[in-house]
Amino acid sequence: MRQVIIIGSGPAGFTAAIYAARANLKPLLIASSVEVGGELMNTTEVENYPGFPDGIQGPELMAKFQEQAEKFGTEVVYDDVTDLDIAGPVKKVTLGSGTVHETQTLIYATGSAYRKLGVTGEERLSGYGVSWCATCDGFFFREKTIAVVGGGDSAMEEATFLTRFASKVYVIHRKDSLRASKIMQERAFANEKIEFIWNSEVAEILGETAVNGVQLRSTVDGTLRDLPLDGLFVAIGNDPRTHLVHEKLQLTSEGTIWVDGRSSVTSVPGVFAAGDVIDPHYRQAITAAGSGTVAALDAEHFLADLEDMSVEVPAAEAAEIITA
Ligand SMILES: Cc1cc2nc3c(=O)[nH]c(=O)nc-3n(C[C@H](O)[C@H](O)[C@H](O)COP(=O)(O)OP(=O)(O)OC[C@H]3O[C@@H](n4cnc5c(N)ncnc54)[C@H](O)[C@@H]3O)c2cc1C
Repeated sequence: MRQVIIIGSGPAGFTAAIYAARANLKPLLIASSVEVGGELMNTTEVENYPGFPDGIQGPELMAKFQEQAEKFGTEVVYDDVTDLDIAGPVKKVTLGSGTVHETQTLIYATGSAYRKLGVTGEERLSGYGVSWCATCDGFFFREKTIAVVGGGDSAMEEATFLTRFASKVYVIHRKDSLRASKIMQERAFANEKIEFIWNSEVAEILGETAVNGVQLRSTVDGTLRDLPLDGLFVAIGNDPRTHLVHEKLQLTSEGTIWVDGRSSVTSVPGVFAAGDVIDPHYRQAITAAGSGTVAALDAEHFLADLEDMSVEVPAAEAAEIITA
């Protein structure tokens, strides 16, 4: 049986692995079969991760995370977790290959997925003018003309934030009114750099090697028109990847995994959660990495307490105390 299994190979998972490996817990990290490295694999230049004053490409940064985790003894498996049995003191982790691993503690760091528009050009131009994160990429659009798609609070927040850099920010919304809270709406309406394009959706993102516009479709009469742009921010929501733990772990009203305060402690003893899957607000590589640290330290303390108890009381009794 393992002491620690980590699910997820983003900044949270690999940072948890670095700490767990350096604590000599020989972690097993399940990295996913096709999305190894997490969300930063979808981006180009990362300029806000400390320690890289000249910036670093997202995939290169994640390769360094992995190298550091493996250097200290993390075992990485390129597979997906398809099922979890986490109720008892021994957690069972089933992989796509059918292999079942057992562990005393589990660190759940599966991230969250930005909702996509699902239109032509979106995948191809991701990181080349198409972005899901104003905090991450706003700086690249100084004095440019850009658009934000969405009508909720996060779309208004992104649009308002982006006016610090861009000369013009369109907000493209399918309806003729916003879902955003009144205060966020008022802030956006009062901003001279923001112009709303109502009753419109993006039909296609245009550009060969970088975004140079979008084709808009009217949601009223279906007519098409082109809008020249230097960048497009998609702000239509975010889904924490919790499908494996529905009904097994307590979730918050925002759909993230509930953790106790600033810890990574979930509603099930021995299961810890870290990164964007617990974070409805900040969702940055550095916050995910910090949260991975917390999870590894929490798992380490949990294992130390288990060991203390197994010395003091018989094993079966200890298991009962821990699960109570
Ligand atoms: C386009 C883009 C650009 C960004 N740019 C920046 C930036 O410049 N700076 C910054 O700080 N942040 C940036 N971010 C945000 C940053 O990428 C995230 O905050 C961070 O990656 C979250 O880390 P995480 O480890 O929690 O999750 P993720 O990075 O999402 O990693 C989770 C991992 O878990 C895996 N996983 C999920 N389910 C399973 C399963 N069942 N079995 C096995 N594996 C599984 C996923 O495949 C994924 O590899 C950007 C995000 C995007 C989308």
